[in-house]
Amino acid sequence: MYKIAVAGTGYVGLVAGVCFAEMGHKVTCVDINEKKVELMKSGVSPIYEADLEGLMQKNYANGRINYTTDYNSAYKDADAIFIGVGTPERSDGSADLSYIATVARQIAESVENDCLVVVKSTVPVGTNDKVEQFIQDFLVNDVKIEVASNPEFLAQGSAVNDTLNAERIIIGTESKWAEELLLNIYEPFNLPIVSVKRRSAEMIKYASNDFLALKISYMNDIANLCELIGADIQDVARGMSFDNRIGSKFLNAGIGFGGSCFPKDTKALDYIAKLNGYELKTVKAAIDVNKEQKTILYKKASKRLITFNGLKVAVLGLTFKPGTDDLRESASLDNIPLLLEQGADIYAYDPAGAENFARVYPEGDTGKGKITYVSNVENALDNANVCFIFTEWGQIKAVIPEMYKKLMRTPLVFDGRNIYNLKEMEEAGVEYHSIGRRPVS
Ligand code: NAD
Repeated sequence: MYKIAVAGTGYVGLVAGVCFAEMGHKVTCVDINEKKVELMKSGVSPIYEADLEGLMQKNYANGRINYTTDYNSAYKDADAIFIGVGTPERSDGSADLSYIATVARQIAESVENDCLVVVKSTVPVGTNDKVEQFIQDFLVNDVKIEVASNPEFLAQGSAVNDTLNAERIIIGTESKWAEELLLNIYEPFNLPIVSVKRRSAEMIKYASNDFLALKISYMNDIANLCELIGADIQDVARGMSFDNRIGSKFLNAGIGFGGSCFPKDTKALDYIAKLNGYELKTVKAAIDVNKEQKTILYKKASKRLITFNGLKVAVLGLTFKPGTDDLRESASLDNIPLLLEQGADIYAYDPAGAENFARVYPEGDTGKGKITYVSNVENALDNANVCFIFTEWGQIKAVIPEMYKKLMRTPLVFDGRNIYNLKEMEEAGVEYHSIGRRPVS
């Protein structure tokens, strides 16, 4: 059992903290957000993740996890401090490391024992060398501090399961002491561990995420061509998937990748490459394709309709993917402003993301268009002129084609997630437009 502190209780930090506690370690999670800390202490998760709340309550009750804003008390005698604060994108595409720097400074002020600082946040290659130096520079007590890299690979929506059953754990260390400590901390997880040097670990994270982003953009690019030449992307993907070298995952065409990772991590690697005098052409292409893809439904619908002004527009799904309340870089954030700008009367449904969306676009008249949040699909579709599907939530996939025909004023559906069978939609009398499946009729 190790004494572990975790800085940041977002998707990465909180899930890591809870899973370390579940594996028997004694964990203190630190966040600067007092409201979040109070919420977590009362057994409520500030983020929507399957299985998280149950494990929080169990491990809080048995005393293995605690939450605080008092970083000093959490860091001073920790064996290891995991950093999971945000590294958002700056306007030039580079990663904003100011949150990491703040935590590094707080660690330097607080630690009273030898301690391993483990960076889980996604950071540009070489950052952890600098974090180590930065902590040394501000260290108050005479203790040994080393920094290790331990990038996170969880996917939002299945974060707890991804952590407890990770396909691999990457650790990047510069000494035997750091490597052994991390191996011991992860020992109870009983999962494959890849141990490399620190810079390689940092690069594994970007190279993995950007490869997946590239795979998505590649399929979207091919999908757009399929539409033009009369091929069906789902058949094409199925045919490709039997090839083990390609694999069957991440072959779904759609409205592009969103979320807090792929968009920023592609831009960050592109930026790192440029900084080093190298042009990373493949990653740049993934970024460009994705940018276009985000508004492809809006462009298709604009070709089909004269205007959205005064039309009742049903929007199904707001989050960047199902299973999360996270809206970061979601397609809805690209399309809804365009629809409102044109005076659309939007009725939006999302099982988890509506509250967050309403913070950006409060319910009511925006001066141009209008937005109303509804609690079920039926209310969104009722008497609608057009429907956009942005997220493939189970509740949305459960809507049968006949419902669109029955409830909408004009059954015209633009689906960014290729949920439906073309024939079934046609038979139900729905005019259905999707991605990469046939030329727009
Ligand atoms: P997040 O924005 O959800 O959470 C960050 C948390 O850190 C917030 O609660 C914030 O209040 C807190 N914080 C800020 N400064 C702090 C400080 N000084 N001390 C303590 N807490 C502080 O972020 P996230 O989505 O969990 O991502 C964190 C990092 O992990 C990023 O680098 C991201 O790229 C990476 N990552 C994210 C995912 C994902 O799916 N979200 C997956 C893999 C890697």
